[in-house]
Amino acid sequence: MFSDLSIVEAASALRRRDFSARELTQAHVDAVAALNPRLNAFITETPELALARADAADAALAAGTAGPLAGIPLAIKDLFCTEGVRTTAASRILGNFIPPYESTVTANLLRDGAVFLGKANLDEFAMGSSNMTSAFGPVANPWQRAGSNAVLVPGGSSGGSAAAVAARIAMGATGTDTGGSIRQPAAFCGIAGIKPTYGRCSRWGIVAFASSLDQAGAFARTVGDCAVLLGSMAGFDAKDSTSVERPVPDYLAATKRGVRGLRIGVPREYRMEGMNPDVERLWQSGLQWLRDAGAEIVDVSLPHTKYGLATYYIVAPAEASSNLARYDGVRFGVRQDGVDLIDLYERTRAEGFGDEVKRRIMIGTYVLSAGYYDAYYLRAQKVRALILKDFSEAFARVDALLTPTAPTGAFAQGEKMDDPIAMYLNDVFTVPASMAGVPGMSVPAGLDHQGLPLGLQVIGRPFDEETVFAVSQVIEDAAGFSAVPQVRAGA
Ligand code: GLN
Repeated sequence: MFSDLSIVEAASALRRRDFSARELTQAHVDAVAALNPRLNAFITETPELALARADAADAALAAGTAGPLAGIPLAIKDLFCTEGVRTTAASRILGNFIPPYESTVTANLLRDGAVFLGKANLDEFAMGSSNMTSAFGPVANPWQRAGSNAVLVPGGSSGGSAAAVAARIAMGATGTDTGGSIRQPAAFCGIAGIKPTYGRCSRWGIVAFASSLDQAGAFARTVGDCAVLLGSMAGFDAKDSTSVERPVPDYLAATKRGVRGLRIGVPREYRMEGMNPDVERLWQSGLQWLRDAGAEIVDVSLPHTKYGLATYYIVAPAEASSNLARYDGVRFGVRQDGVDLIDLYERTRAEGFGDEVKRRIMIGTYVLSAGYYDAYYLRAQKVRALILKDFSEAFARVDALLTPTAPTGAFAQGEKMDDPIAMYLNDVFTVPASMAGVPGMSVPAGLDHQGLPLGLQVIGRPFDEETVFAVSQVIEDAAGFSAVPQVRAGA
């Protein structure tokens, strides 16, 4: 009964007292218990906390003091610190870490009455595009190829969040996106996901991967629900020096603006040689939907797109190698004792980190080392400035861009594992917006020939999430995406 409700619908139904927050939460708690063994979307389930929060929401609803998200059950990516609830970043090294504080984003959601079902699985330290690198095992995509039982990846790194929302065991979820980790799993799981502008949400209390790129955002099954979640999560925070002090607009209202008179850019460089025909076809449909709704489609050029991946895979590992230096077994996290301090560090880090994390630390340390810093890191930073300039020039001519989210639909668990470059290519359409810090949203728009969901990406001007929502809503309405995954609550 609850499995196909949107957050917006559930919030009004709760206010009408059509059902209680406890009933809504209990149904989701039961669905998590039933489906998580199959999906592995949650690392830690918190049913008692969820039900206690639901009771508090019911009391607030009865008293007329309820916040906008009162009683709405969400999944929280296990990269957000949650006070008193284990936060692992899907790494062995944080396997025993119970934060004594709450991240600003999750505190904002709690302030508005949200209910947390538990901590969602991810790639270790958010490094990956498949959820195969989690120390707590891979996440299964609730979707399957027509006529095949192969278990597919949900994308990454926020794969647990996306799988939980797609499978209807959570109504929405938080994610973080450094190079595509909200948009790509949203596309692979057939749901909506927004990465806002860098600085829109506070990074305080989020386990850091690459601090100049990391940005929190939201997953839900509708564009409107993402708007509601982001409205709660966003805002200035004095505890994050890169968070930006500007008012949070009414994003839900922005979804109703339409696109009449808007100019939508099609970046020439995103049309790749040998592009997947299903993806190409869907992109053309998306442009036609926007044209039909009154937008003008304009060709634009982002000439430095081809350097996006190469520079991202220098900048992100460089920042990661520096951020991850703090995991040394001394102050918190898992410790492996050694004969002396250096031995303790080495054993702790050798035991605690998985292979992909070690690979990134080595790449990052190398590109930052004396002698290579100028050749790699400094050059990458210069190219990053050119990528940003590409976007600024395009946005002088258009109001938003439309591109595919990912080059293909979901792939199977185990595929691409022996080829890190093939894995990194997944991010080709999402990384440039991350490098430029501009907002991007993936909207489910159709199925490929194997019956798997594909997403379209809307990219906007810095801090113009409102236009991103307006364009995304038109795509959602025109696409009429109603397909559901094989594995889901209520099926
Ligand atoms: N897949 C990209 C990576 O592996 C992006 C990850 C992310 O956005 N956190 O770095």
